[in-house]
Amino acid sequence: MPKLKCVCGNVIDLSSIPVEEEYHYLSASEWDHAVRAILESMGSIRGGSDETLRERISDTLAALGGEMYRCPTCERLIVFWPGDNAPTFYRPDRSWTEP
Ligand SMILES: [Zn+2]
Repeated sequence: MPKLKCVCGNVIDLSSIPVEEEYHYLSASEWDHAVRAILESMGSIRGGSDETLRERISDTLAALGGEMYRCPTCERLIVFWPGDNAPTFYRPDRSWTEP
């Protein structure tokens, strides 16, 4: 059973679909590529079922960008940056004030 352990000790179960703590991100430079890839997917399966289209769009988006998780215990973001073998942990900082 795949799991992800946060530095706070909390273990996120990655076996349920969807994983509630999981998010996907796209960089701004990947956005246009994603839109084009989705349009191509749609064009290649005209007449296909909605389910097939949903799967194609999902596969297209999954192949781009990266994934991150939000720990429900400590609220850290656990980010998997492209090219990194290990995740990077970001602790929330709510010290922002109105300028
Ligand atoms: Zn945590």
